[in-house]
Amino acid sequence: MIRTGSCQCGQAQYEIEGEDLGLAICYCTECQKMSTGIATYSLGVPRSAFRLTAGILKQWTRMADSGAKNTAHFCPECGVRLFHENPDAPDHIRVKAGTLDGANRLVPDVHVWTGSAPAWIKIPEGALSYAKQGDLAEIVAAINARRAGYAP
Ligand SMILES: [Zn+2]
Ligand SMILES: [Zn+2]
Repeated sequence: MIRTGSCQCGQAQYEIEGEDLGLAICYCTECQKMSTGIATYSLGVPRSAFRLTAGILKQWTRMADSGAKNTAHFCPECGVRLFHENPDAPDHIRVKAGTLDGANRLVPDVHVWTGSAPAWIKIPEGALSYAKQGDLAEIVAAINARRAGYAP
């Protein structure tokens, strides 16, 4: 499967080939600030699956509360972020999934930082969700189990 996406102005375009590792919707306050909204969508993909097919990106790095580096890759024209990565763990990136074509068809695999979601947000019954960050290995295992058809 090949998925395509772009920034808002369209100068930066990308494609992702193959299966993703899961789609997280995050309601943390950093994501609210970044998105100027209530949450962000992050689609985990292997770095090798992502290809910039047009345009250029700029980078900005901040330290997450966990101490991990978080580098945002964004369009220098319109400012939209296409993906985040930890430069110390370069095998995987987190594509900002709202930039995907057809993003309205996405369904998140996991909801994180629900504790800072607006009170009017209702997490769907039975959805995998964590009040805070959640343990990544545990989340990946749970997503894989659900995709294989046996919910824990
Ligand atoms: Zn742009
Ligand atoms: Zn977040």
